[in-house]
Amino acid sequence: MGSANDDVSRVLIPENVIRDRISSLAAEIEAVYDGDIIVVAVLTGSVVFLSDLIRCLPHRMEIGYITVSSYKGDLPTEPRLGSVSLPELRGRDVLIVDDILDTGNTLRLVQGMLRGHEPRTLRTATLLRKPSKAPPDVPAEFVGFDIEDMFVVGYGLDFEGRHRNLPHISELRA
Ligand code: 5GP
Ligand code: MG
Repeated sequence: MGSANDDVSRVLIPENVIRDRISSLAAEIEAVYDGDIIVVAVLTGSVVFLSDLIRCLPHRMEIGYITVSSYKGDLPTEPRLGSVSLPELRGRDVLIVDDILDTGNTLRLVQGMLRGHEPRTLRTATLLRKPSKAPPDVPAEFVGFDIEDMFVVGYGLDFEGRHRNLPHISELRA
């Protein structure tokens, strides 16, 4: 039987390093919010990060989600909004949770859409960022790790729908 691990060439960020960074990231988030928050997950890539992060946060929270598709294999395409399930956001403190900030096209779309709901504050937490590409007009207040411009999988991130279940972040075998 083949396993998802057979398809990756190099572990970039091991499981224990992700775990430690998520607790320090949660502390950064906790320092910013006093009251209740609404977490909006950008699915599907953020599922694993979301589930680990929210369990490190003590706030009363509601969770909504948006699905966005932006990659065909490892080639970026124009992001498209899919399903949307959101509580009332008007006047609330809203935290977007995403997997990775690459060109920023996905988060630009999501942030613009959510701003239209007139939240009191809108901030973004992303597990990964490729700083060489991330544009200045797409803010991310909470960033887990900055990585080089390479295609990574695992911990929620996929290639053609697979490898999301890897517990670490890895480079795909060429
Ligand atoms: P952006 O719109 O910022 O270019 O890309 C954001 C989305 O593209 C991410 O939410 C993620 O779903 C996908 N993406 C960008 N870079 C990578 C990568 O290195 N690996 C994987 N698996 N997905 C990526
Ligand atoms: Mg995504």
